[in-house]
Amino acid sequence: MSVVETDVLVVGGGLAGLTTAAFLARHGTRVLLAERHPSTSMHPKARLVNVRSMELYRALGVEDSVRAAGEPNAGFVLADTLAGEHETWVPPPSDEASGGDLSPTTPYSCDQQRIEPILRARAVDLGADVRFSTTATALTDHGDGVTATLDGSGAATVRARYAVAADGAHSPLCTRLAIGRHGEPVEGTAVSVLFRADLEPALRGRRVDALLARAAEAFLFARGNAAERTWQLGTYLRAEWDPQRVGAYVGDVVRAATGLPELQPVIESVQTWTSGAYVADRFRSGRVFLVGDAAHVMPPYGGFGGNTGVQDAHNLAWKLAAVCRGDAPDPLLDTYEAERAPIAELTVAQALLRSRKAPGRPPLPDQIDATTLVLGFCYPSGHASVTGLVEDPAYPSGRPGTRAPHIELVDGRSMLDLFDPTAFTAVRDPGTAGPSHAHRMREVGREQVARRHRNRWAAVYGGRTVLVRPDGVIAASDGWR
Ligand SMILES: Cc1cc2nc3c(=O)[nH]c(=O)nc-3n(C[C@H](O)[C@H](O)[C@H](O)COP(=O)(O)OP(=O)(O)OC[C@H]3O[C@@H](n4cnc5c(N)ncnc54)[C@H](O)[C@@H]3O)c2cc1C
Repeated sequence: MSVVETDVLVVGGGLAGLTTAAFLARHGTRVLLAERHPSTSMHPKARLVNVRSMELYRALGVEDSVRAAGEPNAGFVLADTLAGEHETWVPPPSDEASGGDLSPTTPYSCDQQRIEPILRARAVDLGADVRFSTTATALTDHGDGVTATLDGSGAATVRARYAVAADGAHSPLCTRLAIGRHGEPVEGTAVSVLFRADLEPALRGRRVDALLARAAEAFLFARGNAAERTWQLGTYLRAEWDPQRVGAYVGDVVRAATGLPELQPVIESVQTWTSGAYVADRFRSGRVFLVGDAAHVMPPYGGFGGNTGVQDAHNLAWKLAAVCRGDAPDPLLDTYEAERAPIAELTVAQALLRSRKAPGRPPLPDQIDATTLVLGFCYPSGHASVTGLVEDPAYPSGRPGTRAPHIELVDGRSMLDLFDPTAFTAVRDPGTAGPSHAHRMREVGREQVARRHRNRWAAVYGGRTVLVRPDGVIAASDGWR
Protein backbone atom coordinates (compact mmCIF):
# COMPACT_ATOMS: atom_id res chain seq x y z
CA MET A 1 0.00 0.00 0.00
CA SER A 2 1.34 3.46 -0.85
CA VAL A 3 2.37 5.81 1.93
CA VAL A 4 1.22 9.42 1.63
CA GLU A 5 2.60 12.29 3.72
CA THR A 6 0.33 15.28 4.15
CA ASP A 7 -0.35 18.10 6.59
CA VAL A 8 -4.01 17.43 7.31
CA LEU A 9 -6.17 14.35 6.76
CA VAL A 10 -9.90 15.14 6.55
CA VAL A 11 -12.16 12.15 7.20
CA GLY A 12 -15.57 12.67 5.58
CA GLY A 13 -16.53 14.46 2.38
CA GLY A 14 -19.89 15.99 3.34
CA LEU A 15 -20.49 19.71 3.58
CA ALA A 16 -18.12 20.24 6.53
CA GLY A 17 -15.29 18.04 5.24
CA LEU A 18 -15.32 19.46 1.71
CA THR A 19 -15.38 23.01 3.07
CA THR A 20 -12.47 22.24 5.41
CA ALA A 21 -10.44 20.77 2.55
CA ALA A 22 -11.18 23.73 0.28
CA PHE A 23 -10.26 26.32 2.93
CA LEU A 24 -7.07 24.45 3.84
CA ALA A 25 -6.04 24.14 0.20
CA ARG A 26 -6.77 27.84 -0.22
CA HIS A 27 -4.14 28.46 2.46
CA GLY A 28 -1.67 26.29 0.58
CA THR A 29 -1.84 23.55 3.23
CA ARG A 30 -1.37 19.98 1.99
CA VAL A 31 -4.67 18.20 2.61
CA LEU A 32 -6.02 14.75 1.81
CA LEU A 33 -9.77 14.12 2.12
CA ALA A 34 -11.23 10.59 2.33
CA GLU A 35 -14.95 10.01 1.72
CA ARG A 36 -16.34 6.49 1.84
CA HIS A 37 -19.17 7.10 -0.63
CA PRO A 38 -18.53 7.13 -4.38
CA SER A 39 -20.15 10.55 -4.83
CA THR A 40 -21.34 13.61 -2.95
CA SER A 41 -24.81 13.49 -1.26
CA MET A 42 -27.67 12.25 -3.42
CA HIS A 43 -30.54 12.99 -1.06
CA PRO A 44 -31.47 16.61 -0.31
CA LYS A 45 -30.72 17.86 3.18
CA ALA A 46 -29.64 21.44 3.81
CA ARG A 47 -31.01 24.11 1.47
CA LEU A 48 -30.83 27.38 3.40
CA VAL A 49 -27.40 28.94 2.99
CA ASN A 50 -27.23 31.66 5.59
CA VAL A 51 -25.62 35.03 5.00
CA ARG A 52 -22.41 34.14 6.87
CA SER A 53 -21.90 30.98 4.81
CA MET A 54 -22.48 33.05 1.66
CA GLU A 55 -19.74 35.44 2.86
CA LEU A 56 -17.41 32.47 3.31
CA TYR A 57 -18.28 31.04 -0.11
CA ARG A 58 -17.58 34.51 -1.50
CA ALA A 59 -14.13 34.49 0.13
CA LEU A 60 -13.55 31.01 -1.31
CA GLY A 61 -14.47 32.19 -4.80
CA VAL A 62 -17.59 30.03 -5.24
CA GLU A 63 -20.39 32.49 -4.47
CA ASP A 64 -21.37 32.84 -8.14
CA SER A 65 -21.46 29.07 -8.64
CA VAL A 66 -23.69 28.65 -5.58
CA ARG A 67 -26.03 31.34 -6.90
CA ALA A 68 -26.19 29.69 -10.31
CA ALA A 69 -27.05 26.33 -8.71
CA GLY A 70 -29.79 27.71 -6.45
CA GLU A 71 -32.30 30.52 -6.26
CA PRO A 72 -33.26 33.40 -3.94
CA ASN A 73 -34.99 32.39 -0.75
CA ALA A 74 -38.76 32.79 -1.01
CA GLY A 75 -39.59 32.44 2.69
CA PHE A 76 -41.91 30.01 4.46
CA VAL A 77 -45.60 29.62 3.78
CA LEU A 78 -48.42 28.11 5.85
CA ALA A 79 -51.37 26.49 4.09
CA ASP A 80 -53.75 23.58 4.29
CA THR A 81 -52.36 22.27 1.02
CA LEU A 82 -50.08 23.55 -1.73
CA ALA A 83 -53.15 24.07 -3.90
CA GLY A 84 -54.92 26.07 -1.17
CA GLU A 85 -54.56 29.63 0.07
CA HIS A 86 -51.02 30.58 1.15
CA GLU A 87 -50.33 32.59 4.31
CA THR A 88 -46.87 34.06 4.83
CA TRP A 89 -45.16 32.61 7.85
CA VAL A 90 -41.55 33.71 7.52
CA PRO A 91 -41.04 36.31 4.78
CA PRO A 92 -38.02 36.02 2.48
CA PRO A 93 -35.02 37.78 4.02
CA SER A 94 -35.09 41.32 2.69
CA ASP A 95 -31.92 43.00 1.53
CA GLU A 96 -32.07 45.57 4.27
CA ALA A 97 -32.77 43.14 7.09
CA SER A 98 -30.26 40.44 6.39
CA GLY A 99 -28.09 41.39 3.46
CA GLY A 100 -27.46 44.81 1.97
CA ASP A 101 -26.92 46.73 5.16
CA LEU A 102 -25.16 43.99 7.10
CA SER A 103 -23.36 42.06 4.40
CA PRO A 104 -22.26 42.42 0.79
CA THR A 105 -24.11 39.19 0.08
CA THR A 106 -27.49 37.70 0.96
CA PRO A 107 -28.82 34.40 2.28
CA TYR A 108 -29.71 32.00 -0.49
CA SER A 109 -31.44 28.72 -1.21
CA CYS A 110 -29.16 26.09 -2.70
CA ASP A 111 -29.44 22.38 -2.07
CA GLN A 112 -26.62 20.68 -0.23
CA GLN A 113 -26.30 18.09 -2.99
CA ARG A 114 -25.68 20.93 -5.46
CA ILE A 115 -23.20 22.79 -3.24
CA GLU A 116 -21.08 19.76 -2.39
CA PRO A 117 -19.90 19.16 -6.00
CA ILE A 118 -18.99 22.87 -6.22
CA LEU A 119 -16.91 22.60 -3.04
CA ARG A 120 -15.33 19.35 -4.18
CA ALA A 121 -14.29 20.89 -7.50
CA ARG A 122 -12.95 24.00 -5.77
CA ALA A 123 -10.94 21.94 -3.27
CA VAL A 124 -9.39 19.93 -6.12
CA ASP A 125 -8.68 23.12 -8.12
CA LEU A 126 -6.87 24.54 -5.13
CA GLY A 127 -4.71 21.43 -4.86
CA ALA A 128 -6.48 19.20 -2.31
CA ASP A 129 -6.11 15.43 -2.75
CA VAL A 130 -9.78 14.37 -2.64
CA ARG A 131 -10.47 10.62 -2.60
CA PHE A 132 -14.02 9.30 -2.83
CA SER A 133 -14.91 5.58 -2.42
CA THR A 134 -12.24 5.68 0.28
CA THR A 135 -12.84 4.79 3.93
CA ALA A 136 -10.59 5.68 6.83
CA THR A 137 -10.58 2.39 8.74
CA ALA A 138 -7.95 3.08 11.39
CA LEU A 139 -6.43 6.20 12.87
CA THR A 140 -3.68 6.44 15.46
CA ASP A 141 -2.55 9.63 17.16
CA HIS A 142 1.18 9.35 17.93
CA GLY A 143 1.39 12.67 19.73
CA ASP A 144 3.56 14.21 17.02
CA GLY A 145 1.29 13.21 14.13
CA VAL A 146 -1.43 10.80 13.05
CA THR A 147 -1.32 7.67 10.92
CA ALA A 148 -4.44 6.43 9.17
CA THR A 149 -5.29 3.48 6.98
CA LEU A 150 -7.46 4.23 3.96
CA ASP A 151 -9.29 1.40 2.22
CA GLY A 152 -11.05 1.50 -1.13
CA SER A 153 -10.13 3.15 -4.39
CA GLY A 154 -7.81 5.65 -2.71
CA ALA A 155 -6.20 3.03 -0.45
CA ALA A 156 -3.07 4.28 1.29
CA THR A 157 -1.34 4.65 4.60
CA VAL A 158 -1.53 8.34 5.44
CA ARG A 159 0.86 10.15 7.73
CA ALA A 160 -0.49 13.56 8.61
CA ARG A 161 0.36 16.20 11.15
CA TYR A 162 -3.30 16.62 12.09
CA ALA A 163 -6.65 15.02 11.29
CA VAL A 164 -10.12 16.50 11.03
CA ALA A 165 -13.13 14.33 11.85
CA ALA A 166 -15.84 15.54 9.48
CA ASP A 167 -17.50 12.16 9.57
CA GLY A 168 -21.02 13.19 10.46
CA ALA A 169 -23.56 12.86 13.23
CA HIS A 170 -22.66 9.26 14.03
CA SER A 171 -18.95 10.06 13.85
CA PRO A 172 -17.03 6.78 14.02
CA LEU A 173 -13.93 8.79 14.94
CA CYS A 174 -15.64 10.33 17.99
CA THR A 175 -16.54 6.83 19.12
CA ARG A 176 -12.98 5.63 18.59
CA LEU A 177 -11.59 8.64 20.47
CA ALA A 178 -14.15 8.14 23.27
CA ILE A 179 -15.48 11.68 22.86
CA GLY A 180 -18.92 11.79 24.43
CA ARG A 181 -21.66 14.30 23.73
CA HIS A 182 -24.31 16.00 25.78
CA GLY A 183 -27.81 17.12 24.91
CA GLU A 184 -31.13 15.48 24.28
CA PRO A 185 -32.90 13.41 21.66
CA VAL A 186 -35.72 14.90 19.61
CA GLU A 187 -38.74 12.62 19.67
CA GLY A 188 -40.03 10.85 16.59
CA THR A 189 -38.60 9.63 13.32
CA ALA A 190 -38.54 12.04 10.41
CA VAL A 191 -39.31 10.89 6.88
CA SER A 192 -37.84 12.68 3.90
CA VAL A 193 -39.07 11.99 0.36
CA LEU A 194 -37.50 13.29 -2.84
CA PHE A 195 -39.97 13.27 -5.73
CA ARG A 196 -40.66 14.68 -9.17
CA ALA A 197 -44.08 15.90 -10.22
CA ASP A 198 -45.68 18.73 -12.13
CA LEU A 199 -47.10 20.80 -9.28
CA GLU A 200 -48.09 23.77 -11.43
CA PRO A 201 -51.81 22.87 -11.15
CA ALA A 202 -51.42 23.50 -7.39
CA LEU A 203 -48.99 26.42 -7.64
CA ARG A 204 -50.87 28.34 -10.35
CA GLY A 205 -47.89 30.67 -10.92
CA ARG A 206 -47.08 31.12 -7.22
CA ARG A 207 -43.49 30.47 -6.12
CA VAL A 208 -42.91 28.37 -3.02
CA ASP A 209 -39.61 27.59 -1.32
CA ALA A 210 -41.00 25.89 1.77
CA LEU A 211 -44.59 25.25 2.77
CA LEU A 212 -46.16 23.62 5.80
CA ALA A 213 -49.20 21.69 4.55
CA ARG A 214 -51.34 21.39 7.67
CA ALA A 215 -53.78 18.94 6.09
CA ALA A 216 -50.98 16.41 5.64
CA GLU A 217 -48.78 17.35 8.62
CA ALA A 218 -45.96 17.65 6.14
CA PHE A 219 -43.52 20.20 4.77
CA LEU A 220 -43.00 20.65 1.05
CA PHE A 221 -39.64 22.04 -0.06
CA ALA A 222 -38.82 23.18 -3.57
CA ARG A 223 -35.51 21.69 -4.69
CA GLY A 224 -33.12 22.58 -7.48
CA ASN A 225 -34.11 25.79 -9.22
CA ALA A 226 -36.55 26.97 -11.88
CA ALA A 227 -34.50 25.28 -14.60
CA GLU A 228 -34.55 21.90 -12.89
CA ARG A 229 -37.25 21.49 -10.25
CA THR A 230 -37.68 18.57 -7.88
CA TRP A 231 -39.57 18.48 -4.59
CA GLN A 232 -38.96 17.18 -1.13
CA LEU A 233 -41.61 16.19 1.36
CA GLY A 234 -40.73 16.14 5.04
CA THR A 235 -43.04 14.40 7.46
CA TYR A 236 -42.91 11.96 10.38
CA LEU A 237 -43.20 8.20 10.69
CA ARG A 238 -46.83 7.45 11.58
CA ALA A 239 -47.48 4.85 14.30
CA GLU A 240 -49.60 2.78 11.90
CA TRP A 241 -46.88 2.58 9.21
CA ASP A 242 -44.65 -0.46 8.83
CA PRO A 243 -41.17 1.11 9.21
CA GLN A 244 -39.79 -1.38 6.65
CA ARG A 245 -42.25 -0.21 3.96
CA VAL A 246 -42.29 3.56 4.35
CA GLY A 247 -42.13 4.04 0.57
CA ALA A 248 -45.56 2.42 0.27
CA TYR A 249 -47.26 5.23 2.21
CA VAL A 250 -45.56 8.39 1.09
CA GLY A 251 -47.43 8.81 -2.22
CA ASP A 252 -50.65 9.40 -0.25
CA VAL A 253 -48.94 12.02 1.92
CA VAL A 254 -47.63 13.80 -1.20
CA ARG A 255 -51.17 13.87 -2.66
CA ALA A 256 -52.61 15.17 0.62
CA ALA A 257 -49.91 17.85 0.97
CA THR A 258 -50.19 19.09 -2.59
CA GLY A 259 -54.00 18.97 -2.62
CA LEU A 260 -53.81 17.09 -5.94
CA PRO A 261 -55.65 13.78 -5.31
CA GLU A 262 -54.87 12.38 -8.78
CA LEU A 263 -51.14 13.19 -8.68
CA GLN A 264 -48.75 10.32 -9.52
CA PRO A 265 -45.41 11.56 -8.14
CA VAL A 266 -42.20 9.84 -9.21
CA ILE A 267 -40.62 8.95 -5.88
CA GLU A 268 -36.84 9.16 -6.27
CA SER A 269 -35.72 8.34 -2.74
CA VAL A 270 -37.09 7.98 0.77
CA GLN A 271 -35.02 8.38 3.93
CA THR A 272 -35.88 8.13 7.59
CA TRP A 273 -33.78 9.83 10.26
CA THR A 274 -33.91 10.82 13.87
CA SER A 275 -32.88 14.23 15.02
CA GLY A 276 -31.31 15.35 18.25
CA ALA A 277 -29.73 18.32 19.95
CA TYR A 278 -26.20 17.36 20.95
CA VAL A 279 -22.79 18.97 21.30
CA ALA A 280 -19.56 16.98 21.59
CA ASP A 281 -17.87 17.17 24.99
CA ARG A 282 -14.62 18.13 23.27
CA PHE A 283 -13.86 19.53 19.83
CA ARG A 284 -10.22 18.43 20.02
CA SER A 285 -8.56 15.23 21.07
CA GLY A 286 -4.79 15.42 20.68
CA ARG A 287 -4.19 15.94 16.98
CA VAL A 288 -7.77 15.31 15.87
CA PHE A 289 -10.41 18.07 15.52
CA LEU A 290 -14.16 17.68 15.14
CA VAL A 291 -16.12 19.80 12.65
CA GLY A 292 -19.72 19.83 11.44
CA ASP A 293 -22.23 17.24 12.62
CA ALA A 294 -19.42 15.29 14.28
CA ALA A 295 -19.19 18.21 16.72
CA HIS A 296 -22.88 19.16 16.96
CA VAL A 297 -26.24 17.99 15.70
CA MET A 298 -29.43 19.99 15.86
CA PRO A 299 -33.03 19.89 14.65
CA PRO A 300 -33.33 21.36 11.13
CA TYR A 301 -35.47 24.33 12.28
CA GLY A 302 -33.67 27.53 11.37
CA GLY A 303 -31.44 25.73 8.86
CA PHE A 304 -28.38 26.13 11.07
CA GLY A 305 -26.86 22.61 10.97
CA GLY A 306 -24.80 22.61 7.79
CA ASN A 307 -24.05 26.32 8.05
CA THR A 308 -22.56 25.89 11.53
CA GLY A 309 -20.23 23.21 10.11
CA VAL A 310 -19.10 25.54 7.32
CA GLN A 311 -18.30 28.17 9.93
CA ASP A 312 -16.38 25.63 12.07
CA ALA A 313 -14.29 24.72 9.04
CA HIS A 314 -13.48 28.36 8.37
CA ASN A 315 -12.44 28.97 11.98
CA LEU A 316 -10.22 25.88 12.08
CA ALA A 317 -8.61 26.04 8.63
CA TRP A 318 -6.51 29.19 9.03
CA LYS A 319 -5.28 28.02 12.43
CA LEU A 320 -4.21 24.62 11.10
CA ALA A 321 -2.59 26.35 8.13
CA ALA A 322 -0.65 28.75 10.38
CA VAL A 323 0.59 25.93 12.63
CA CYS A 324 1.52 23.68 9.69
CA ARG A 325 3.47 26.55 8.09
CA GLY A 326 5.33 27.06 11.36
CA ASP A 327 3.90 30.57 11.78
CA ALA A 328 2.10 29.77 15.04
CA PRO A 329 2.54 27.30 17.91
CA ASP A 330 0.20 24.36 18.45
CA PRO A 331 -1.77 26.02 21.32
CA LEU A 332 -3.36 28.34 18.72
CA LEU A 333 -5.39 25.25 17.81
CA ASP A 334 -6.91 25.13 21.30
CA THR A 335 -8.75 28.34 20.47
CA TYR A 336 -10.84 26.38 17.95
CA GLU A 337 -12.80 24.64 20.71
CA ALA A 338 -12.74 27.72 22.95
CA GLU A 339 -14.36 29.76 20.17
CA ARG A 340 -16.63 27.31 18.39
CA ALA A 341 -18.01 25.16 21.23
CA PRO A 342 -19.96 28.03 22.90
CA ILE A 343 -21.38 29.07 19.52
CA ALA A 344 -22.37 25.45 18.84
CA GLU A 345 -24.11 25.23 22.25
CA LEU A 346 -26.02 28.43 21.55
CA THR A 347 -26.98 27.44 18.01
CA VAL A 348 -28.16 23.98 19.06
CA ALA A 349 -30.26 25.58 21.82
CA GLN A 350 -31.75 28.03 19.30
CA ALA A 351 -32.59 25.24 16.83
CA LEU A 352 -34.23 23.26 19.64
CA LEU A 353 -36.24 26.31 20.69
CA ARG A 354 -37.47 26.79 17.13
CA SER A 355 -38.44 23.11 16.91
CA ARG A 356 -40.82 23.66 19.82
CA LYS A 357 -42.52 26.73 18.40
CA ALA A 358 -45.76 26.33 16.50
CA PRO A 359 -45.39 27.62 12.93
CA GLY A 360 -46.89 31.05 12.42
CA ARG A 361 -46.56 32.01 16.10
CA PRO A 362 -44.41 35.01 17.08
CA PRO A 363 -40.79 34.36 18.12
CA LEU A 364 -40.35 32.98 21.64
CA PRO A 365 -38.86 35.33 24.26
CA ASP A 366 -35.44 33.64 24.19
CA GLN A 367 -35.32 33.36 20.43
CA ILE A 368 -32.39 35.17 18.82
CA ASP A 369 -33.03 36.19 15.24
CA ALA A 370 -31.01 34.20 12.72
CA THR A 371 -29.06 37.17 11.34
CA THR A 372 -27.87 38.18 14.82
CA LEU A 373 -26.89 34.60 15.54
CA VAL A 374 -24.80 34.16 12.40
CA LEU A 375 -23.29 37.65 12.00
CA GLY A 376 -23.22 38.88 15.60
CA PHE A 377 -21.25 36.00 17.14
CA CYS A 378 -18.71 36.97 19.82
CA TYR A 379 -15.78 34.69 20.51
CA PRO A 380 -14.16 34.96 23.95
CA SER A 381 -11.95 38.05 23.88
CA GLY A 382 -10.10 38.06 27.15
CA HIS A 383 -11.94 41.26 28.10
CA ALA A 384 -13.41 40.40 31.49
CA SER A 385 -15.96 43.19 31.13
CA VAL A 386 -17.46 41.59 28.05
CA THR A 387 -19.90 38.73 28.30
CA GLY A 388 -22.51 37.41 25.90
CA LEU A 389 -22.17 35.30 22.81
CA VAL A 390 -23.86 37.64 20.36
CA GLU A 391 -24.18 41.33 19.69
CA ASP A 392 -26.40 43.26 17.30
CA PRO A 393 -24.54 43.13 13.97
CA ALA A 394 -26.07 46.47 12.97
CA TYR A 395 -24.17 48.12 15.85
CA PRO A 396 -20.86 46.24 16.01
CA SER A 397 -18.63 46.90 19.00
CA GLY A 398 -15.41 46.23 17.11
CA ARG A 399 -14.11 44.20 20.01
CA PRO A 400 -11.66 41.36 19.43
CA GLY A 401 -13.51 38.12 18.78
CA THR A 402 -16.32 39.71 16.76
CA ARG A 403 -16.78 39.65 13.00
CA ALA A 404 -15.24 42.65 11.26
CA PRO A 405 -18.44 44.21 9.94
CA HIS A 406 -19.55 44.93 6.41
CA ILE A 407 -18.93 48.60 5.72
CA GLU A 408 -19.72 49.92 2.28
CA LEU A 409 -17.13 52.19 0.68
CA VAL A 410 -17.99 55.12 -1.58
CA ASP A 411 -16.70 53.13 -4.55
CA GLY A 412 -19.34 50.45 -3.80
CA ARG A 413 -16.95 47.81 -2.45
CA SER A 414 -17.36 46.21 0.96
CA MET A 415 -14.56 46.44 3.51
CA LEU A 416 -14.89 42.65 3.78
CA ASP A 417 -13.40 42.43 0.30
CA LEU A 418 -10.27 44.32 1.44
CA PHE A 419 -9.28 41.57 3.86
CA ASP A 420 -6.82 38.90 2.79
CA PRO A 421 -8.55 35.52 3.35
CA THR A 422 -5.18 33.82 3.79
CA ALA A 423 -3.38 36.29 6.06
CA PHE A 424 -3.87 38.89 8.78
CA THR A 425 -4.85 42.34 7.53
CA ALA A 426 -4.21 45.52 9.51
CA VAL A 427 -6.78 48.25 8.86
CA ARG A 428 -5.82 51.75 9.91
CA ASP A 429 -7.67 55.01 10.03
CA PRO A 430 -5.19 57.24 8.13
CA GLY A 431 -5.82 59.94 10.74
CA THR A 432 -4.14 57.71 13.34
CA ALA A 433 -0.46 57.88 14.12
CA GLY A 434 -0.33 54.19 14.91
CA PRO A 435 2.62 51.82 14.61
CA SER A 436 3.08 50.23 11.23
CA HIS A 437 2.34 46.52 11.19
CA ALA A 438 4.23 43.67 9.63
CA HIS A 439 0.89 42.57 8.17
CA ARG A 440 -0.82 43.61 4.97
CA MET A 441 -1.93 47.18 5.70
CA ARG A 442 -5.11 48.82 4.48
CA GLU A 443 -5.92 52.44 5.16
CA VAL A 444 -9.59 53.37 5.21
CA GLY A 445 -10.62 56.84 6.29
CA ARG A 446 -14.05 58.31 7.00
CA GLU A 447 -14.29 60.00 3.59
CA GLN A 448 -13.87 56.66 1.82
CA VAL A 449 -16.89 55.21 3.61
CA ALA A 450 -20.45 55.43 2.28
CA ARG A 451 -22.46 57.89 4.38
CA ARG A 452 -24.88 55.29 5.71
CA HIS A 453 -22.01 53.32 7.25
CA ARG A 454 -19.91 56.13 8.71
CA ASN A 455 -21.17 55.61 12.27
CA ARG A 456 -20.35 51.92 11.99
CA TRP A 457 -16.88 52.76 10.67
CA ALA A 458 -16.34 55.24 13.54
CA ALA A 459 -17.34 52.62 16.14
CA VAL A 460 -14.94 50.00 14.82
CA TYR A 461 -12.12 51.80 12.96
CA GLY A 462 -12.30 55.51 13.82
CA GLY A 463 -8.93 56.69 15.17
CA ARG A 464 -7.67 53.11 15.43
CA THR A 465 -5.66 50.35 13.93
CA VAL A 466 -7.54 47.07 13.83
CA LEU A 467 -6.00 43.69 13.09
CA VAL A 468 -8.30 41.30 11.22
CA ARG A 469 -7.68 37.53 11.16
CA PRO A 470 -7.80 35.50 7.95
CA ASP A 471 -11.32 34.39 8.92
CA GLY A 472 -12.53 37.99 9.06
CA VAL A 473 -12.67 38.12 12.87
CA ILE A 474 -11.10 41.03 14.73
CA ALA A 475 -7.88 39.82 16.39
CA ALA A 476 -6.86 43.07 18.08
CA SER A 477 -7.90 46.68 18.14
CA ASP A 478 -6.13 49.52 19.85
CA GLY A 479 -9.58 50.72 20.84
CA TRP A 480 -9.87 47.54 22.95
CA ARG A 481 -6.64 47.11 24.85
C1 LIG B 1 -33.90 17.13 6.32
C2 LIG B 1 -32.72 17.98 6.69
C3 LIG B 1 -32.74 19.34 6.40
C4 LIG B 1 -31.67 20.15 6.72
N1 LIG B 1 -31.71 21.48 6.39
C5 LIG B 1 -30.64 22.27 6.64
C6 LIG B 1 -30.59 23.64 6.18
O1 LIG B 1 -31.52 24.16 5.55
N2 LIG B 1 -29.46 24.37 6.43
C7 LIG B 1 -28.40 23.81 7.10
O2 LIG B 1 -27.40 24.50 7.30
N3 LIG B 1 -28.41 22.51 7.53
C8 LIG B 1 -29.49 21.73 7.31
N4 LIG B 1 -29.47 20.40 7.67
C9 LIG B 1 -28.28 19.85 8.34
C10 LIG B 1 -27.17 19.47 7.37
O3 LIG B 1 -27.66 18.64 6.35
C11 LIG B 1 -26.06 18.75 8.14
O4 LIG B 1 -25.72 19.56 9.24
C12 LIG B 1 -24.85 18.52 7.24
O5 LIG B 1 -25.10 17.52 6.29
C13 LIG B 1 -23.66 18.06 8.07
O6 LIG B 1 -22.54 17.95 7.23
P1 LIG B 1 -21.27 17.13 7.71
O7 LIG B 1 -20.30 17.24 6.60
O8 LIG B 1 -20.88 17.53 9.07
O9 LIG B 1 -21.81 15.63 7.86
P2 LIG B 1 -22.34 14.66 6.73
O10 LIG B 1 -23.03 15.39 5.65
O11 LIG B 1 -23.08 13.58 7.44
O12 LIG B 1 -21.01 14.05 6.10
C14 LIG B 1 -20.19 13.13 6.80
C15 LIG B 1 -19.49 12.28 5.76
O13 LIG B 1 -18.50 11.49 6.38
C16 LIG B 1 -18.42 10.26 5.67
N5 LIG B 1 -17.71 9.29 6.52
C17 LIG B 1 -18.09 8.85 7.75
N6 LIG B 1 -17.15 8.00 8.23
C18 LIG B 1 -16.18 7.91 7.28
C19 LIG B 1 -14.94 7.20 7.21
N7 LIG B 1 -14.52 6.41 8.20
N8 LIG B 1 -14.20 7.33 6.09
C20 LIG B 1 -14.61 8.13 5.08
N9 LIG B 1 -15.77 8.83 5.10
C21 LIG B 1 -16.53 8.72 6.20
C22 LIG B 1 -19.87 9.93 5.38
O14 LIG B 1 -19.98 9.03 4.31
C23 LIG B 1 -20.44 11.30 5.06
O15 LIG B 1 -20.43 11.59 3.68
C24 LIG B 1 -30.54 19.58 7.37
C25 LIG B 1 -30.51 18.20 7.67
C26 LIG B 1 -31.57 17.40 7.33
C27 LIG B 1 -31.49 15.92 7.63
